[in-house]
This record gives sequence, C-alpha cells and structure tokens, in this order.
Amino acid sequence: MVELVRIKAITFFLVFLFVSIFLAGTIYAQESTKFRTVVIDAGHGGKDPGALGKSAREKDVVLAIALKVGNYIEKYLPDVKVIYTRKTDTFIPLYKRAEIANKNDADLFISIHANYISNPKIQGVETFALGPARSDENLEVAKKENSVIVMEDAYTTKYEGFDPNSAESYILFEYMQSTYLEQSTLMASLIQKQFKERAGRRDRGVKQAGFLVLRNITHPSVLVEVGFLSNRAEERYLTSSTGQTYIASAIFRAVRDFKKQYDDKNAGENVTQKKDVKNDVKSNDVVYRIQVASFKREIKKGAGIYKKFSDIYVFRDGGRYKYATGEANDYNEIQKQLEKVKKKVPGCFIVAFEKGKKIPVSEAKRITNQDN
Ligand SMILES: [Zn+2]
Repeated sequence: MVELVRIKAITFFLVFLFVSIFLAGTIYAQESTKFRTVVIDAGHGGKDPGALGKSAREKDVVLAIALKVGNYIEKYLPDVKVIYTRKTDTFIPLYKRAEIANKNDADLFISIHANYISNPKIQGVETFALGPARSDENLEVAKKENSVIVMEDAYTTKYEGFDPNSAESYILFEYMQSTYLEQSTLMASLIQKQFKERAGRRDRGVKQAGFLVLRNITHPSVLVEVGFLSNRAEERYLTSSTGQTYIASAIFRAVRDFKKQYDDKNAGENVTQKKDVKNDVKSNDVVYRIQVASFKREIKKGAGIYKKFSDIYVFRDGGRYKYATGEANDYNEIQKQLEKVKKKVPGCFIVAFEKGKKIPVSEAKRITNQDN
C-alpha cells in the first residue's frame, strides 16, 4: 500500500515535471516578437455617416475598403490575424475602437477614413500618425474626425471633457509621449508610397494630428484619408469597385512591407530578450513593473539607467529597448514601489506583463481583479 502511494507520487511528480517543461517551452515561444495581429478600423458607421459626397457616404466607402484590406491580409499573410472594429454598418465609439486594439495586443492599427473639404478642387490621399498638428489644415481633419464623439453617450466623461471643436483641447497632444511615432510614421510613409505607386493617387504626404481614436492605442497606429468625397472625380473613384480594390491593395502592400521590416528588425532580438528575462517570472502570473527608460539602442550594463537601479529588466516593445525596475504581482504593491522610483525618475510609469509579454495595465488589473 505504501509502495503504491510512492509510485503514485513519483508518477504525479514526473507528469508535473513534463508539463512544466512543456509550458516553459511554450512561454518562451510566446516571447517571439513577430508581427501577428493587425486591427482594421473602418471609420464611422451606423448613425454616424461620416463625410457626405454628392451620393457617397464615408461610412460605406471605408467599410468596403476595410473589408478588402482584411481579405488581402488573410489571403496573402495567413500568419497574421486580422481583427475588424466593425464588419457591418454599426456605430462604434472611438474609445471602443482603441480598446479593441489594446485588448488584442495589435501590432498595428489602421483607421480608414475619407476626407471632405469646402473646396471641391482639392484631391489626394494622406496618412496621419498621432501627434500635434503642425498646420490648421491638419487640425481641421482631426476636428472633423473627432467630432463624432458628440454622438456617443456620456462623451464628456469618457473623453475627460475633451471638446473636439475647441483648439485648446488639442494642446494635450503637444505633450503626448510619442513612443510609437517612429513606427507609425514608417507605416504612414509605406501607405503613401503604395497609394502613389500602386494606385496612382495624388500624394498629400505623411502628417500628424491629434486623433482621439489613436490617442489611447498602445501600439503603432495610423489614420488614412483615402481621398476627398468633396471632389467629384475622387468620389467616383472611391465608390467604384476598381478604385476600392486599388486603395485596398495599396494598404495591404504597405502592411506586408511593414510586417517584413518589423520581423527582420526583431529577428535577432529574442536572444537579448531571453538573456535579460528574470527566471522567477511565473508563467500565468501578471507581473507589474515600472518603466524608467526607453531607447532606440541598447544600453550597456553598468551604464546609464543601470547606475540608478540594481534591478533592471529589459524588454523590447515597439522596436525600442525599454527598461523597467521593481516587480510585483499586486497592483497596490507596485504603486507603493512607484512612489519611491518617482523620486529618481519623475516620468516613470507602471507597465504590466503576462507570461513575459507586455499587456495594457487595464487588462492586467482586470485579470488580477483590481479594476476600479
Ligand atoms: Zn472619417
């Protein structure tokens, strides 16, 4: 009897050991920084038609293009997961669109829109990254696209009193952390290049403006204006099947090129990542840390931020080397640590990981039931 118990215990231990080894392997595989998920966001929808041409409605044009882009990606880049913010004519608040991207840990977010301006002669395509508008013209585009929030319930609380039509509201974009600006701008330029070369459109360039839909996205993101519905020729092009196919094909090609650069750039990085990952991070646990620095190039150990903290954790995110300190499974505990770290690095903030992979803090709090 005692013998049987011992055999059972040994068997149990062996099974446990193999499962652990298997899980450890899986966890390491998940640390890969390959381009995996893209969110395609067709602007407007439902009660919000967006810009209105002579006959076309922005919400219909951009949905048709968005679905085509998604189809191309699913067909030609089968290892990339496509997530749509909407596939039908429905109204989705702007903050929800960002939530969809963050929840799915998207590597790229593309919001598709069509333009409108009082001068019917103006035509062409432009792609925006999030940032302060450097011209009134760019600010106007952001105002127009942001104004849909007034159709949302409780928009003053959801967007902390942001008034889409007041220039003062846009000051906040001046001070925004532009962590993903480099990659977002790269994507924007790849799209513009394809619009010009593949679709033969008039190139109005890569721009920046304060778009609410992009503001809370924790990944590279762009907003594309595929043409002016206020211009008759462009309206006809954008409502034609051929026009939509060319525009969608151009956006798809830009995604393909972005993915290639993203994967190539990150190809050698897993080695670095593994070397620096601490071994005591438990597989299913959410771990909070405090981000204290972010650089394009890796810092030598013993230099810079390493001099300020003894426990530095390095991770790759958005093509950058990011440095964090502290560690806790509990959000309240990391907040206590944050107060101390703030004395050394005032701009530091909390970041969260699940299975060694960075996730939004809101998501981490939800998992650890600390959402409040
Ligand atoms: Zn729009």
